[in-house]
Amino acid sequence: MAGRNKDDINIAKAAIIGAVLVVLIVFGLIGIITQYIDKKKKEDREEYYRTKCYIYDCENKKLEGYNYCSEHKCAEPGCDFSRTSGTVYCAFHAWENDPVYRAEREKAMKMEQELEAAKAKNDDGKSGSSKNNSSGKSSGNSSGKSSGSSSGSSSGSSSGKSNYDPYDVYDYHSAEDFADEWEDDFDDWEDAYEYWEESR
Ligand SMILES: [Zn+2]
Ligand SMILES: [Zn+2]
Repeated sequence: MAGRNKDDINIAKAAIIGAVLVVLIVFGLIGIITQYIDKKKKEDREEYYRTKCYIYDCENKKLEGYNYCSEHKCAEPGCDFSRTSGTVYCAFHAWENDPVYRAEREKAMKMEQELEAAKAKNDDGKSGSSKNNSSGKSSGNSSGKSSGSSSGSSSGSSSGKSNYDPYDVYDYHSAEDFADEWEDDFDDWEDAYEYWEESR
């Protein structure tokens, strides 16, 4: 009798342990499943916001490489700003593509280019004159001939000389004045004198 009672108790114990285990497993599974669903939801939401147009109430997908959809992105290629109302451009490109401003900008650009060209020419003239200067000095030494040939090669830009006057020849009323002023830049005083005569 007593042994049977003990068996019953053991069976009851095993049943309780089994039930607890089942409950634990079920809760564990539920936990894992809800975690998975939450994660998936979060990923979906992140994906949605990652690929959605930046405009708050726009559900369109953004264009590849941009933050806005084709309806809201500035029409200027490469520009990643949203359009301003009334144009297909962002505020900056609407202003930049405005015909009046455009014409003015092109004019300004042209002027700048001309200025750059003039400056480049000026630099050429300057470096040419400094070359003349150094060759003139070195000709004071023994290597008069070699400096002569080097100045000859550098005066390959002498065709530019006729266009550009680095010495402001027209500011001098006489060859003497000019030669007095620029003698050091030429081989000698006569050379400067001749330069003035040729340039007039
Ligand atoms: Zn949009
Ligand atoms: Zn733009």
